[in-house]
Amino acid sequence: MDVRTIGVVGAGLMGSGIAQVCATAGLKTVLYDISGAAVERGVVAISSNLERLVSKARLSASDRTNILSSILTTTSIGDLGHADFIIEAATEDPRIKLTILKELDGIASPSAIIASNTSSVSITKLAASLSIPGRMIGMHFFNPVPVMSLVEVIRALQTTDATFSATEALAKAVGKTPIAVKNAPGFVVNRILCPMLNEAIFVLQEGLASREEIDAGMKLGANHPIGPLALADLVGLDTFLSVMNVFYQDLGDPKYRPAPLLKEMVDAGFLGRKSGRGFYEYH
Ligand code: NAD
Repeated sequence: MDVRTIGVVGAGLMGSGIAQVCATAGLKTVLYDISGAAVERGVVAISSNLERLVSKARLSASDRTNILSSILTTTSIGDLGHADFIIEAATEDPRIKLTILKELDGIASPSAIIASNTSSVSITKLAASLSIPGRMIGMHFFNPVPVMSLVEVIRALQTTDATFSATEALAKAVGKTPIAVKNAPGFVVNRILCPMLNEAIFVLQEGLASREEIDAGMKLGANHPIGPLALADLVGLDTFLSVMNVFYQDLGDPKYRPAPLLKEMVDAGFLGRKSGRGFYEYH
């Protein structure tokens, strides 16, 4: 499949990063958001990321100009009608995603592939909402998109082999390493990573070691670049709690029970970096 034009839905943290890597790979990119302010913020984020690369001499000024000029922005979903491949990266709310897919079903070219960057919504459920379910797939990028190499490519039950191959090829074309994953809560990376962070909170709660010692333990003993408690603060404790709740409910196994201390932190409004306090204080 010849992918030349990419449509990205959602110009937030992930959507803007996805647009940046697609445009950098030479693809014409249409960045759509329901909010004009979000589109503007997305373009500012892309410009400043590219500017940083220029200042470090990792990108030429003319390449920066070309990349920016290959990104078209819009608040009209109809402008995605010519895209060969559409990546949905809007707010993590199943109702919002299903509404967007219904709109895309009406305007997308019949041959276009529709991918979702969702972290927790079932790709099979999303596929079932389309009139051509076989064109739906999960394409899970990691944050920050321009820096992180991995893309999990998630097959819905309905995904065709052609959709899968084209998605894998696109991930490679934008400089990422794809891994093939079946549809299940958390896919692969979060399924492994999140219970580890949750366990670190149990360890803190049981008083086995201090926050600094737990984080130092995993950095020095397991070679992790950041300790689990600092990472939970970075993710946001409310977001992290909702992921653990999805695992607990959908997988139906008590081993995914969120740590009581995590719930209490969220009840207190201690949400991590974004609220100024989590397991650490940020001023
Ligand atoms: P975000 O809040 O930064 O951006 C979401 C954007 O979606 C906003 O700009 C919002 O205006 C837009 N939006 C909302 N409703 C819309 C609609 N109906 N049509 C078009 N745009 C709409 O969120 P994010 O962190 O970029 O997350 C986006 C997706 O990526 C989510 O599904 C999330 O689970 C997934 N994801 C996030 C991360 C992460 O670390 N943040 C990592 C991997 C995957």
